[in-house]
Parts: sequence; C-alpha cells; structure tokens
Amino acid sequence: MKKIYGIIGDPIAHSLSPVMHNAVFEKLGLDAIYLAFRVSKDELGDAIRGAKSLGISGLSVTIPLKEKALSFVDAEEVAKKIGAINTIDFSSGTPVAYNTDGIGSLRVLKETVSEIKGKKVLILGAGGAAKAISFYLDAEGARVTIANRTKERAALLASNLRNANSIGLDTDTLTKRIEDSDILINATSVGMHPHEDATLVNADMMHPDLVVFDVVYNPMETKLLKEAKRAGVKKIVDGVKMLVYQGAASFRIWTKEEPPIDVMEKAVRDVLIQD
Ligand code: NAD
Repeated sequence: MKKIYGIIGDPIAHSLSPVMHNAVFEKLGLDAIYLAFRVSKDELGDAIRGAKSLGISGLSVTIPLKEKALSFVDAEEVAKKIGAINTIDFSSGTPVAYNTDGIGSLRVLKETVSEIKGKKVLILGAGGAAKAISFYLDAEGARVTIANRTKERAALLASNLRNANSIGLDTDTLTKRIEDSDILINATSVGMHPHEDATLVNADMMHPDLVVFDVVYNPMETKLLKEAKRAGVKKIVDGVKMLVYQGAASFRIWTKEEPPIDVMEKAVRDVLIQD
C-alpha cells in the first residue's frame, strides 16, 4: 500500500518539503507520497491523533507548531532539551518526535568552517530554528550569543545553554558584537518572502572574514546575503542546504534509507529559481 507522509503548519502553501521529498520517492522508486496539510495551533492535537489513526507514516512539523507539538508526542531526549520538534515518526504505533533542524544546520556549518569549537557565533532570533541551531553549536563548543527582539526570550534561551549569552537587537549593540564574531546566523523570519527587502544587519555592520548564514531559503538570496556580498564577505551560505540536510535526516528516520542529497537540493533550487 502507498505510504503517506506530509508536513503540517500554518501557513503551508510556501513549503518546498513536498517537492523535495516527492523527488526522492520517485528517484528511489518508493511507493510513497508527501503532502502539505494546513493545520492551525488549535487543531494540532486532533491532527496528530488523526494522522496516527489514518496510518500516515511520518510528518514534518513547521511554523508555528514546532514547540506546541511537544505536548502530543513522545519526544527524543535532544528534542525535549531543544524544546521544539520538526519530525514525527509513526512506525512504532505511537508518535515519536525528533528535531532535525539543528543537525541540518550543523552539517552546513561543518562544511563551511574548519572548526566549530571556540568560534564566536551570533544568532539572530530565539524561536524554533534558533533553539535548535544554538543547542548543537553550544554542544560543539562554540561561544554563542543570542540576539532577539524580546530580550527576555534571548536570555532564557541562553540560560539553557552551556556557554552562551544574550543581547538585544539595537543597531549599536549588534554592530559591536558582529565586529567580534566569526559567524552570523539569521534564524529569524526577517527577509522571508513576501518581505524580501527586510534585513536586521546591513553591509556596513559586517566584515569580510565573517561567515554569514541565513536560514531563510525563500528567496535563496535574501537581503542579508546581498548585504554580505556588498561588504565583501567571503563565506556566504543560503538556507537551502539546511532545508535539504534536515529533510534528509527526517527521511532516514522514516524510511531507514539514504536519500540522494543532490536530487533533494536540485528539486528545491529548481523551484526557487523559477520564482
Ligand atoms: P519562529 O516563529 O519560531 O521564530 C521566529 C523568530 O524571528 C523569533 O525569534 C522572532 O522574534 C523573530 N522575528 C520575527 N520577525 C522579526 C522582526 N521583524 N524583527 C526581529 N525579529 C523578528 O520561527 P522559526 O521556526 O524559528 O523559523 C524562522 C525562520 O527560519 C523562518 O523563515 C523559517 O522558514 C526558517 N527556517 C528554515 C529552515 C531551513 O531548513 N532552512 C529550518 C527552520 C526554519
């Protein structure tokens, strides 16, 4: 029987996960389909219970459900510590949840810089993506600073890490901290379609040796990345690779098979180039 996978979130029409996973099912000849389901926070419990009853094999979970979903699943230890999930596996009968966002971002950064340990990393945002990314970087020995609009949320996230601190988002504070940082990561939704002209950091706040990584992947080249180019930044990373690596980690959990990364990346980039 055809296996059914999907992604739940709200809004969901923008998601490229269906195109990415369906390309893999086709390439590997698996009898499976991956669909997008718009689910509000209020309907989340019913949706997860319904998915289990309907025999759905696996779900991805996205904005704004990643934190609340923890209440309806058995979560793996790391996902519990992060405080957010993005993957549910139904193969054991009960829904078991994981967080693969941090794994995806860490793989991207390990391909970009020689050593994470000791690097000064400034993360913009304190939401689901920031929590997952900061957890893995902190565990690798990076010196993480969380910068968030609501300072209390930044402080709370930093206090849950081993070696992290927090700041607000005012330009002076940000500029000073960027001067002293090795890696800048935008883990907010600022710059995401349809607000493509927005950025929290401009060219005059960056230096050429900074690594600039934007987790936003739509558009592929965000305003932040354009500004980084203007500042002469040598290592610029868009959000597509992270999307692919977190998706690949989820795919392995669901199917126990190794997905072709190049097929996933091409499927996503092809759609984004057409936009
Ligand atoms: P979230 O809603 O949990 O968190 C959003 C964060 O952005 C919060 O910290 C919020 O304070 C901040 N923010 C929003 N608007 C802001 C503004 N105008 N000024 C300052 N800060 C602002 O969302 P999330 O799940 O953490 O996702 C954040 C972004 O990361 C989204 O664009 C999402 O698509 C992207 N994302 C990408 C990947 C990937 O694989 N590339 C994975 C996860 C999330």
